[in-house]
Amino acid sequence: MKLNNLDRQISMLCPTCGCKDFSFDEQDENGLVTCVQCERQLTRADLVTENSELIAENQNEIVKEAKKQVEAEMKKMLKNAFKGNKNIKIR
Ligand SMILES: [Zn+2]
Repeated sequence: MKLNNLDRQISMLCPTCGCKDFSFDEQDENGLVTCVQCERQLTRADLVTENSELIAENQNEIVKEAKKQVEAEMKKMLKNAFKGNKNIKIR
């Protein structure tokens, strides 16, 4: 069973102004991120905390999408299982 790519990009929002653009040092994973609009600085952990609702929503959607794909795949498998077996009679 193969699922489609469920990768999603989640855009974090600035808790102050709602801007999606942040500047940060890619080399420094513990560095602060800075909102490019209001210049609020926060740690990545804080940013994740502030956006936890958004992230949870996204996760729900990914789960929903995965379920849909699995269900469709199961139906296909069931159909295939009976394909070509028209002559089999259940006694
Ligand atoms: Zn901002």
